[in-house]
Amino acid sequence: MTDLTLFNSLTRTQEPFVPVHAGEARVYTCGPTVYNYPHIGNMRAYVFADVLGRTLSYKGYKLTHIINITDVGHLTDDADAGEDKMEKMAAEKAQSIWDIAQHYTQAYWADVKALNIRQPAKWSVATDYIDEMLEFAKSIADKHCYELESGLYFDVSTVEDYGRLARAVTEDGEGRIDAVDGKRNPQDFAIWRKTPAGEKRQMEWDSPWGRGAPGWHLECSVMGEKLLGFPFDIHTGGIDHREIHHPNEIAQNQAFCGCGGLSEAQNSGARVWMHNNFLVERSGKMSKSSGEFLRLQLLIDKGFHPLAYRMMCLQAHYRSELEFSWEGLEAALTRLKRMVMAAERLADAPSQPVAEHPKFAAILDKFDNAISDDLGTPIALTALEEALAVKKVDAGIKRAVVEHINSVLGLGLFDLTRAALRIRPKAATTTEDEIEDALARRKAARAEKDFATSDAIRDELVAKGVDVMDGDPLGWEWKLS
Ligand code: AMP
Ligand code: ZN
Repeated sequence: MTDLTLFNSLTRTQEPFVPVHAGEARVYTCGPTVYNYPHIGNMRAYVFADVLGRTLSYKGYKLTHIINITDVGHLTDDADAGEDKMEKMAAEKAQSIWDIAQHYTQAYWADVKALNIRQPAKWSVATDYIDEMLEFAKSIADKHCYELESGLYFDVSTVEDYGRLARAVTEDGEGRIDAVDGKRNPQDFAIWRKTPAGEKRQMEWDSPWGRGAPGWHLECSVMGEKLLGFPFDIHTGGIDHREIHHPNEIAQNQAFCGCGGLSEAQNSGARVWMHNNFLVERSGKMSKSSGEFLRLQLLIDKGFHPLAYRMMCLQAHYRSELEFSWEGLEAALTRLKRMVMAAERLADAPSQPVAEHPKFAAILDKFDNAISDDLGTPIALTALEEALAVKKVDAGIKRAVVEHINSVLGLGLFDLTRAALRIRPKAATTTEDEIEDALARRKAARAEKDFATSDAIRDELVAKGVDVMDGDPLGWEWKLS
């Protein structure tokens, strides 16, 4: 096997993966803020983290993966401006924050399952760690923080190399940070936000700095430290986190462990920081407020199997921007269908360990090189297709190779069937039974050379939005248009 190399955002170079604890890999992924449904762009971040986790397992490391659930502290702006996203949604919906968090956490987990994202070792929920956050904050408060009326602030000039991860003390970067009266440096951020006098928040706790709530950055520092220990191996998130959230987490971590500068990456709390690029819409950034909100459920409602979206993600390298389009999703679904059809032919072959076999050696090498090269899923997918296309070979051996590659890509090839990939669009007015019945009548008419009847049945189906697909290369007889 080739050594695994990963692109480290902190050093901006691709580096060999060297675990902190021999034989282990400890990974922390910034999870969702559960104030709304995740959009499919958010889910790209978890498909990426899942491929990373599966790759580490495939390389033989004992994986401990943590994904957090942010149910407090994330403001409508990543810097210190705006309201708490959870409080805002709860007020809009006139519901308790706990109900909002519960509802959207369940919705997120449904997407996780539908996309074949493996369960992490633990989902850590931010509000379960308030005591630990207070302890962490107390331990750094004297040396690194100062109090203002609105809360306890972290002074970024007290740690070395603040902001190295973002590489951007540009005017743009600073422009995004709202001025708070009394801040010592524009980038200073709240680690505890006091509830303004006379107000009551749904989520608030007592602290040495008054009643209030933790800052979002504090949560991830604390859960990472508690659950994985500093330094752990890899911290992941979307590329937006490279600018504010993660530099702030890093500053807190340096303060907590009394560490020096960031030319030693592990002083940041993790050895490697990895970021997936964005899924974008043609019109620009993906958003939860504009027009048709792209949730996974919308894709399913339109008749796309959710794993077609996983396929779409794998077709791009995680560090490249990916543009969403319905045509692209259709193409990804077709590619998945072809793979599932080829895998169906191996369904009865007994599973066995991957054996050395001349017909597969080059393919397995290609796969291993691709995935070891900073998770090169686009090339890994072609290796999977090549394995499925090998002819005149024992089906059991072929199945073993395909399963081996699929265990990293997570396309669930042996759990799917062609029929399962055909999802009924929500707007469809006819049932599968009715379609199958009409097609059987049409076949009978054709067998009797009664083309008038056969054409009439076809027209009837077209009127109901069903395309009849004579001679389809994938063997499909119909699809809903
Ligand atoms: P949030 O729930 O807003 O904290 O975001 C959850 C995750 O999705 C974070 O890791 C974000 O960086 C990531 N993310 C947000 N928007 C996108 C996008 N359009 N494409 C890919 N990742 C995204
Ligand atoms: Zn985080």
